Amino acid sequence: MPLVNDTRRVYLDYNSTTPCASEVIAEMLPYFTQEYGNAASPHVAGRVASAAVAQAREEVARAVGTNSRCVLFTSGATESNNIALFGVVKSGSRRRKIVVSAIEHKSVLEPCLRLLDEGYILERIPVDRFGVVDLESAANLIDDRTLIVSVQSANNETGVLQPVREIAQLAHDRGALCHCDAAQMLGKLPVRVEELDIDLASFSAHKAYGPKGIGALFLAEGKVRSVLKPILSGGGQESGIRPGTQNVPGIVGFGCACRLVHGVLDAEIQRVSAFQHLCEEELLGGIPGSFVNGRTVHRLPGTISLTIPGVPADMLIANLTKVCISNGSACNSGAPEPSHVLLAMKLSRSDAECTVRISLGRHTSKPEIMEACREMITTARELRVKLGI
Ligand code: PMP
Repeated sequence: MPLVNDTRRVYLDYNSTTPCASEVIAEMLPYFTQEYGNAASPHVAGRVASAAVAQAREEVARAVGTNSRCVLFTSGATESNNIALFGVVKSGSRRRKIVVSAIEHKSVLEPCLRLLDEGYILERIPVDRFGVVDLESAANLIDDRTLIVSVQSANNETGVLQPVREIAQLAHDRGALCHCDAAQMLGKLPVRVEELDIDLASFSAHKAYGPKGIGALFLAEGKVRSVLKPILSGGGQESGIRPGTQNVPGIVGFGCACRLVHGVLDAEIQRVSAFQHLCEEELLGGIPGSFVNGRTVHRLPGTISLTIPGVPADMLIANLTKVCISNGSACNSGAPEPSHVLLAMKLSRSDAECTVRISLGRHTSKPEIMEACREMITTARELRVKLGI
């Protein structure tokens, strides 16, 4: 069972991962033990698995605002991001420039850094001090040498929403493709890829109460399909773009998670936003000098990037006995460098090191918020005394 009923913890790290919904687990289970056929097999067991994959593809497509022909299953957003970038580069275009925002997730930035070795030029679009991508800089950086532009829909550390539609327009005006890492958006706000007019988008099931190890890549019909080349070879699954035996239980779970989102999203947005405001008021009132990054701009409901000057995030997290929060992105944990996202927002290195990410979700309750705030406030105050601040 998920840890949501675990009274020893207050889990406030939903941007890192979410508990799998019990309905999701129930729908996945038969595909491990009874309907375990390979979805590519022509026999009846394979056909049952293949039908389940087709249904899930419809459900994921509906949740992200497209049709099922445009959805390919991958192992998660990291893989989707890699396929998008390396796959487009393999298209053989003479365009050698890649433009990304300075605050992309490492699974976008690191593939781009690898492409530098292959002679590609990488440009990073700066953000303002609220963490919003600067459109004027984007317009200057995207030109007719640009192959692909990649800008996330919402930042995983600050929750700040990005002007993806405007970026897509700029990219298309210059004949470039536009990719969007939408991993943090699914399950938190409505996603409509077709309306954003993007060419590629990445998703992950485990950020939206689905299982880990399954995700999707949206590929718009038309020009991308013809240019994207697979990065793996060895089978024709997923239109040959992501070969390998399909993870049928994972795909079924992803489909179910998307269906559940559909039914609860509006209510969740209201509830989580109210708890976010409560949490911010409590923390800002209880910890002198603390501040919320990107507080005045549009953000994902439930994401709080809180700087507590003088209190290193690692130290605060290690001293919390009940509350689970993060120091920026979980994927960065253990990295000695402060967050590139916060540095791009012009936070000082010391403030960036003293910033935690609190992310609320479906199972967060008011008593949990109050308890978490009490522990965070007491611990931050104790650490300040200990550190002589
Ligand atoms: N992009 C963003 C914005 C993310 O937050 C994450 C998860 N931390 C990923 C990509 C990677 O997703 P996955 O775990 O599915 O590989």
